[in-house]
Amino acid sequence: MKTVSQLKSSKDCYSFNEQKRELVEAGKRNLTKLKPYWREFAYMKQHYVGSNFVTSPVKMPGFDYWETNRLDQVGRLTNDRVLFLTFDDWGSDESINKLLYVLKKHHVKATFFVLTENVDKNPNLLRAIAADGHEIASHSDSHVPLATSKKGAYHNLTAKETAAMRKDLAKSYQKLNKYVGDVQVGGKKALSLDFRPPTLEVSKKGLEAAFDVGFQYAVSGDVSTNDYEQTSFQKYLHDLKYGSGKDNNDYKVTNGSVIGHAHAGKRQVYRPGFGHYDSCLEKGGYSFARVDQYRAAYSRQRAKESN
Ligand SMILES: [Zn+2]
Repeated sequence: MKTVSQLKSSKDCYSFNEQKRELVEAGKRNLTKLKPYWREFAYMKQHYVGSNFVTSPVKMPGFDYWETNRLDQVGRLTNDRVLFLTFDDWGSDESINKLLYVLKKHHVKATFFVLTENVDKNPNLLRAIAADGHEIASHSDSHVPLATSKKGAYHNLTAKETAAMRKDLAKSYQKLNKYVGDVQVGGKKALSLDFRPPTLEVSKKGLEAAFDVGFQYAVSGDVSTNDYEQTSFQKYLHDLKYGSGKDNNDYKVTNGSVIGHAHAGKRQVYRPGFGHYDSCLEKGGYSFARVDQYRAAYSRQRAKESN
């Protein structure tokens, strides 16, 4: 017979990992140690997967015209016939378990960009996502965008805002590490060093901060399903196939598309359009992958492209 305290200290009793992992820390200098600046910029160019509506110095404050044109403005990871399903923010037992069920049924691995501020309330839900073989990545702790916007104009971060952001990002990673840092499925780690900018807005200071604290990739993406504001499932599928037609930059799903969904709370009604994904799979068209399976090849491709 063992006492409770003996059980608690035995190796059979699981407890969350309270040890800090040094891969992401507020005080880290992963980007700035690459000095001179052209090397830092080359790193950003190879590790930022952009989006089709963040395309000018106005939308990317701090970067000049030359730089903006060299940073990715498309948001696709590969030319292969592969799609990347990504799910942002956080959800409930019900919404996420439904989602996990459908993903499992179709043998699809996805990437979850987790907003960590509420994860402490339900860490086992995070472990359930990780245990199914999905990628767990960060979407910050409190959803502070990498660029501030005031009266419709975007601004670079101030020194104070940058310092706060660095702390927020480090906090987010440490929480993920605490709950799923140990999870591996099929020899693949659940937790990655990928990061999705909240609202997809970026500024120079904000993007630099994300890489500097230790994240390896900032991943926005070309297709936003706008699932939180869709009015019908038909409209949702239509937008995935043909683009929503909202503006010229609104892309439809194609090779290498990084498809964004919100999965938080109420914003889950039309998530996700699996009817569409099903038919793609049946046609032998697309396969699906986690972002972290393709981003190293993306970097190599970006490095080859001329300056
Ligand atoms: Zn978000």
